[in-house]
Amino acid sequence: MKTRTKLLLGNWKMNKTLREAKAFARESVELSALAMANNVELGVAPTFLCLEAVRKTNPDIIVAAQNLHYEPKGAYTGEISIPMLKEIGISWSIIGHSERRQYNGESSLSCNRKVLAMIENDMTPVYCCGETLEEYESGITKAIVRNQIRTGLSGVAKDKASRIVVAYEPIWSIGTGVNASKEIAEEVCGFIREVLGEMFGTTVASEIRILYGGSVKPDNIKSYLSAKDIDGALVGGASLDIQSFKALLENIL
Ligand code: PEP
Repeated sequence: MKTRTKLLLGNWKMNKTLREAKAFARESVELSALAMANNVELGVAPTFLCLEAVRKTNPDIIVAAQNLHYEPKGAYTGEISIPMLKEIGISWSIIGHSERRQYNGESSLSCNRKVLAMIENDMTPVYCCGETLEEYESGITKAIVRNQIRTGLSGVAKDKASRIVVAYEPIWSIGTGVNASKEIAEEVCGFIREVLGEMFGTTVASEIRILYGGSVKPDNIKSYLSAKDIDGALVGGASLDIQSFKALLENIL
């Protein structure tokens, strides 16, 4: 069984101009060295406009897109394809972030097409799942998450599945400052691994990294990472400032 390398991924959402992104990338060079020395993978997901510049400024940081289209080209105004990303050296993308599900009509089914296209192209999807507050309060978190995982990752070949990263992000905790307790995150991430085991077998499931996301801050990241099935964090707000990003990293070393 392979050991799962810890992963800290910042989701910049619609933040940072090109100039700001380059400045961050320059300052992140020393953080990448620290991460590598401690066997932690460090990454950021800038806007499309900044992907190439961030990658060139810091070749040692994982640079992920925040979305992509599943078709290689065509009449899809405003979209960005996998060949376009690959040409500028990008092989990771967040898929199915709750904000895209909420504001852009994405579903687990449409995410599945993106995940399959990425796997076909040897890319790494960071597939997001998580329940709304209403679903959480109704006690149906596991049913929702199971459905998101089974639909979104359907058809992925067993021998390719270990490259997938899953992010559990309860929607009620994203950007709200109300983070899920370690116990909730631990239980749901453990459940996600069980569902992955049903789909891909327990060995492959034990190799897939599962991140927690939702109001992760330097002062709470360590507790999440101490959970057996949580292998890292997907961080929005606290990843935007280099000092805070540094503190997130330092607190999981
Ligand atoms: C996110 O955007 O994935 C996220 C978890 O945001 P925040 O850390 O700001 O809650």
